[in-house]
Amino acid sequence: MKCKCGGDMILRFNKKCNCQFYGCSNYPSCKNTMVADKEGNPIGAIADDELRALRKKLSDLLYEYFGSGYHWADTCEIANFLQNETGKPYVSRLNKEEVTNLLNKIAKDKIVSENNT
Ligand SMILES: [Zn+2]
Repeated sequence: MKCKCGGDMILRFNKKCNCQFYGCSNYPSCKNTMVADKEGNPIGAIADDELRALRKKLSDLLYEYFGSGYHWADTCEIANFLQNETGKPYVSRLNKEEVTNLLNKIAKDKIVSENNT
């Protein structure tokens, strides 16, 4: 699997979350990553800075809507919402198009109040 920069996406291990992910062989100059499952199969799309920023924006909006904090019950509701909308339970597995669509949908439906900007 090739990174957008031409480097190779290499399977790595994250001790913090005890999980595997793909990182670019040109790290640290390229910080693109991709989620992997327990067997090390790649999931979703390669995340560059732009996609990471969009995912962060989306997850912030979701947490704002579904709960006041990073509580497991909120995470469960968010997973159900994402599963219904995209067929994938995690923001980290969404590609740019899916994240953009959800951001637009949330803005359109005004399910998130914008009074704390
Ligand atoms: Zn790269």
